[in-house]
Amino acid sequence: VIKPHDFFQYKNGELFAENVACSEIAKEVGTPVYIYSSSAFLKPLRALQVAVPGGSFCFAVKSNSNLAVLSLLNRAGAGADIVSGGELYRCKLAGFPGERIVFSGVGKTADEMKAALTYGENGIHSFNVESEPELERLSDVASSLGKVATVALRYNPDVDPETHPYISTGLREDKFGLSLEPLLAAAKRAEELPGINLKGISIHIGSQILKISPKREAFEKVRSLVIQLNKTLKEPLEFVDLGGGVGIQYLEETPMSLEEYGKLVHESFSDLELDLFFEPGRFISGNAGIFLTEIQYRKSTPDKDFLVVDGAMNDLIRPALYESYHHVVPVTESHQKADLKPTDVVGPVCESGDFFAQMRALSTDLKQGDLVALLSAGAYGAVMSSQYNSRPRAPEVLVEGDRFTVVRRRETLEDLVEAELKNEIGGHA
Ligand SMILES: *Cc1c(COP(=O)(O)O)cnc(C)c1O
Repeated sequence: VIKPHDFFQYKNGELFAENVACSEIAKEVGTPVYIYSSSAFLKPLRALQVAVPGGSFCFAVKSNSNLAVLSLLNRAGAGADIVSGGELYRCKLAGFPGERIVFSGVGKTADEMKAALTYGENGIHSFNVESEPELERLSDVASSLGKVATVALRYNPDVDPETHPYISTGLREDKFGLSLEPLLAAAKRAEELPGINLKGISIHIGSQILKISPKREAFEKVRSLVIQLNKTLKEPLEFVDLGGGVGIQYLEETPMSLEEYGKLVHESFSDLELDLFFEPGRFISGNAGIFLTEIQYRKSTPDKDFLVVDGAMNDLIRPALYESYHHVVPVTESHQKADLKPTDVVGPVCESGDFFAQMRALSTDLKQGDLVALLSAGAYGAVMSSQYNSRPRAPEVLVEGDRFTVVRRRETLEDLVEAELKNEIGGHA
């Protein structure tokens, strides 16, 4: 199991990212700041490549879309799973070849389809199509460009992934994918459309899935569907895209092992002569990053204390959005043990939801100016940040061994208003 601490450990009483002291980064870049470990992205990618030999792993760009991270993963042989034209643009800058890009999402616009069909020399690998109207539009757009789009239909297998409802996507009532009957109808329609080449089935039933059983149930349903379709389609299907969603450890969860996962994939599909695609996001990026923030104030009450830090929900919204857990780790190790008191770690934003941790046993030694790190912040962290409360977004730093690089600079006050009318409104400072 990959642990939140694996690449962020104490050395001589100080928290390090690989071989760089977090306090050194804070001194140079300021706080709050995201810190990523390059090895921590590569380790789970390699583990997946070993667990499923021959599989194509398309990193879910939405989990962490920093260009340096994308470039790192591209160089390591990963592909990209995108959900917007903006993510496609990032893939271009990061150098991903089109044949390693798959396009997911329920709401692709004609412009996004066009950009994907004309990406690089031959366009992207495939579109995961989620409805019949999308199929019609994609055929029209492709035809108008003299092209044919490679398509996987996204199947909604009606399987409960047993995860947080906001990140469950494979239940019948979710907006994602096609359930069996509509999918069979769409497959039939796909064969009539001039701009469509139906070659695969895709699924993605949810995120942070810890148990193997929902995966097993979903894969069995995909397998039956492929066998059923191959009896009627003119050309047999060539690939399945099995989505992302493998869970990680934030607290003490024991996610499914990759050995189990690889074995399940093998059992489910090895006899069908299909190429296998996957869309891992959190599994690769989740434990590759931390969020470093500085304590501004301690507010004491009889029952608990508040540590008010300089990071906030606009920087890392997961606790506010999903009540998700992140370890809170003092950068100075000696602050970890002494005199624990129930503590809320909160930001300065004017919302009661602006907390990182509640009733956490933290040392009363922690005081103004001390640094704390929130672990497991590499996925759905920086990408979900906003400028709410007119707070410039935090920078991102990538560590490689004993070197670190600022891979996204801290936003400035000018950045806050860059896209707005300024001269015309007659304001003066
Ligand atoms: C979000 C998403 C993923 C990635 O999910 P993780 O839980 O981060 O692995 C993969 N595929 C699709 C279609 C998604 O929407």
